[in-house]
Amino acid sequence: MFTIQEYAMPETLQEAYDILKAQRSNVILGGCAWLRLGSRRIRTAVDLSKCGLDFIRENGEFIEIGAMTSYHSVAASDLLKSVFDGVIASCVTSIIGVQFRNTVTVGGSVYGRFGFSDFLTPLLALDTRIVLFNRGEVPLKDFMTMPYEKDIVVMVRIRKDGRHLSYQNMRNSRGDFPILNLAVSYGEAQGFTVTVGARGPKAVRAEKTSAYLTGHCRQKDEALLQGACDLLVSEVSFTDNMRASADYRRLISQVFLKRAVREVTGW
Ligand SMILES: Cc1cc2nc3c(=O)[nH]c(=O)nc-3n(C[C@H](O)[C@H](O)[C@H](O)COP(=O)(O)OP(=O)(O)OC[C@H]3O[C@@H](n4cnc5c(N)ncnc54)[C@H](O)[C@@H]3O)c2cc1C
Repeated sequence: MFTIQEYAMPETLQEAYDILKAQRSNVILGGCAWLRLGSRRIRTAVDLSKCGLDFIRENGEFIEIGAMTSYHSVAASDLLKSVFDGVIASCVTSIIGVQFRNTVTVGGSVYGRFGFSDFLTPLLALDTRIVLFNRGEVPLKDFMTMPYEKDIVVMVRIRKDGRHLSYQNMRNSRGDFPILNLAVSYGEAQGFTVTVGARGPKAVRAEKTSAYLTGHCRQKDEALLQGACDLLVSEVSFTDNMRASADYRRLISQVFLKRAVREVTGW
């Protein structure tokens, strides 16, 4: 169980950031579902509830999701249900239960960059940016490999470019962590983007597989899909853990890839 010495609820992000930077053991609080599992001794805990970060909105070409938005709000959002085949709303619905999803936040989930994340794998297949208070806007692809700096996740911005999106995941039992997840996005202008998560390490884009599918998509046959599967398992690494072996993940990823490509293209 973590301990907190002082609790701050600033009204501006500048104030929140100043407190965060003031001491090494100061932290930002999201929904605390993950934080509470650790044993950190927090000097000042910074609650962003008064900073106006609970929103899901359209802003020009982008959809913006504030850091203090809960996963339940994501799942219930009519706006998110209306874009990308509803996948951004539905991808979080297998995470434990409604009460849990009412607590956990988009900011905590993004900052954590958890390898098993059901949220980040589909977002990584889109033109998604993370807005950080100090560093500014960073493509999610780059953010995934950045070190854990002391900064504040302000919002997620996703370009509304009309792509189709499919998200596949598998769990050993309901409410457990996924043992593998995979997303494919497709648009005529953008081609294919394939991402794989819950493979052991963090989610990644399968760049070679994406380029192969985009370059050969006129072929539209089983040979194309099998070629993409062969590339996928050669470019993406999978690891063993208590939930599944690397070999099992490798097999499942190929089934997911074929299924997802068929879903986004209608082949
Ligand atoms: C038992 C359990 C099971 C789970 N199962 C799944 C699952 O199956 N699939 C899945 O995708 N996820 C799962 N999760 C993860 C969960 O969905 C959240 O992603 C996770 O709890 C973090 O969100 P939070 O709001 O609780 O963050 P917190 O626990 O509050 O914070 C997590 C980290 O992020 C930092 N932080 C929080 N907000 C910000 C911010 N705005 N800016 C900068 N830093 C910030 C905190 O300081 C902390 O370091 C699970 C979590 C738990 C505890």
